[in-house]
Amino acid sequence: MDVKEELVKLCHKIGNRIPTWTQGQGGNASLKENGKLWIKASGERLDSVAASRGLAVLDINGFLAEIQPSPSISDENQYSKAIAETKDPSYGTPSMETGFHAVLPRRVVLHFHSLAAILMGHVMEHQETKWKSWISTHTKKSQICPVPLICPGRKLMAAIGDLPRAEIYILKNHGVILHSDSEGILDQWQALEIQFCEAFGYKTLKALLESTHPWSDATAQVKEIHSKELKLYFPDAAVFKPQLNLHLAKNRSIGDPAILAERAERNLDEILCATVLLNLLEPKLQEISPELALEIRGMPLEKERIQKISRNSESGNK
Ligand SMILES: [Zn+2]
Repeated sequence: MDVKEELVKLCHKIGNRIPTWTQGQGGNASLKENGKLWIKASGERLDSVAASRGLAVLDINGFLAEIQPSPSISDENQYSKAIAETKDPSYGTPSMETGFHAVLPRRVVLHFHSLAAILMGHVMEHQETKWKSWISTHTKKSQICPVPLICPGRKLMAAIGDLPRAEIYILKNHGVILHSDSEGILDQWQALEIQFCEAFGYKTLKALLESTHPWSDATAQVKEIHSKELKLYFPDAAVFKPQLNLHLAKNRSIGDPAILAERAERNLDEILCATVLLNLLEPKLQEISPELALEIRGMPLEKERIQKISRNSESGNK
């Protein structure tokens, strides 16, 4: 299979699990081939990627060489510049999370905002003994690596680069990175999520993970409490906080069919649905700090994404 077709298939497989794996334009997948990194383009939904749309490609060695000389890991402008200068201009702009895709050496790297992974990040701190014993019977020690909450982009890339190589990185208050030579890692992860929910009593999430219609099942769960105060459990909620508050003020139920016709509204609806679900599943889940939320919103590539979604909202979205 052609690398583009293979990547599209992977993007759709992840992008169809809304909101349990992905919400809005979040998440990204990449494949390496002949020194090139093929990756979902920034601002694109995983489920709308096609071989002729929503993909980006960059030169891995060229990108890493531009990034390495800088001693400052907070230089986000240089990071954006390295992405812009090493991408193939006939394709889209690579995802802002391109950095860790490039720095991880194996062929398949999948990143998405898995609700189960966010809950794993919570239980590994709050039920440490039970988590350690459970995870040791379900994975090999070297297979899994927890990652503290780090600003996405260049800082996350630097952190992942410094950690021991693993197949599964659990990103606190963010999601998961799967890293393997084989696409089979995705099915393994799915099975692990279901076992996790069973062991730790997250029955509602387990049902959604096993459902063939997770979105309609999820919206049926959250309708009653859609006007709840917005919680910032993961980076995309921080990125789109003002838009989410405006969306909430419209006072429509999550999953309102009219929303499906408006892509920008639908992206926000999915982020909101995930937020409300997490609150329902784990009321004690810690939010990301206001300082980090501000830092995430201020990143150059995130500013582009915010402008893009705002433009879409204003134009009624095509
Ligand atoms: Zn992410």
